[in-house]
Amino acid sequence: MSKGILEAGKDPMGQAIRDYFETGRAARLRVFSPQFEEDEMPVSTLFRTETAMPPLERLALDLCRGRVLDVGAGAGCHSLALQHRGLEVTAIDISPLSVGVMQRRGVTDVRAVDLFDEAFAGCYDTVLMLMNGSGIVGRLERMPQFFRRMKQLLSPDGQILMDSSDLRYVFEDEDGALDIDLNGAYYGELDYRMQYRQVKGDDFPWLYVDFGTLSCHAQANGFRTELLAEGSHYDYLARLTQQR
Ligand code: SAH
Repeated sequence: MSKGILEAGKDPMGQAIRDYFETGRAARLRVFSPQFEEDEMPVSTLFRTETAMPPLERLALDLCRGRVLDVGAGAGCHSLALQHRGLEVTAIDISPLSVGVMQRRGVTDVRAVDLFDEAFAGCYDTVLMLMNGSGIVGRLERMPQFFRRMKQLLSPDGQILMDSSDLRYVFEDEDGALDIDLNGAYYGELDYRMQYRQVKGDDFPWLYVDFGTLSCHAQANGFRTELLAEGSHYDYLARLTQQR
C-alpha cells in the first residue's frame, strides 16, 4: 500500500460506505474519542444529495471554479454534484473502499491518495475540503506541511474552500468563560477512533479550528483567509488564497 492508504480491515467508514451503497443500509458507524462520549455517524449523511446539504456546503459548491480537487471525498456527494454542474473534478480519499464506491457511483476521476503524499501532483483552481474539512490537517503543528502541499497543488490564483467549527462552545461555561487548560493542547485538536461491526480503525488526529486561529496559521504560511459565511452552530466556510 502506498503512504497513508487504509487497509480494508482498518477502514470502518469505508466498510460502512460500501454496505450502504450495496444494500441501502448500514450498521452503526461508532465514533470514539477520549474527549467525548461515544457517538455515531449516520452513514446516510455521507450520501446526502445537494438539496440535503447544509447551506455552507451549497455555497461552497456554488463557489467552485475550474479544475476542482475534492479532498477526503468519502462517498463522493460533492464530487457528483460538481460533475452534474459540468465541472472537472478529481476526488481523492485514503479509503480504497470509498474510492471503489465513488467509481461505481460515477465519479469519473477518483484515486486512492493521501493528501500529504507528495507523489500525488496536480494543478487545481479549487481545493474543496468539506464536512469539517480542516480535520484532515489533524494538528495545528501540521499547518506548515498542509500549506506547502497546497502551494504544490494550487494554480497561482487557486482557492481552498474549507469548512470547520470553533469548538469553544464545548468548553464554555454559562458565563461564556472558557474552561480550558491554556498550557494544554489547542482545544480543537481531537483524537478519534471508529468502529463498524467488527472492523476497528486506528486512532487518528482530527482538527477543528476557529477562524482566527486558521487565519494566523494561513498568514504565517503565505495564505490570505476570507470568512465567506457562518453556519448556525459555530461553523463557518472559509476561502484561502495565496498571498502575492
Ligand atoms: N467530504 C466527505 C467525507 C468526509 S469524511 C463528505 O463531506 O461527505 C472524511 C474523509 O476524509 C474520509 O472519507 C477519509 O477517508 C478521508 N481522509 C482522511 N484523511 C485523508 C487524507 N490525508 N487524504 C485524503 N483523504 C483523507
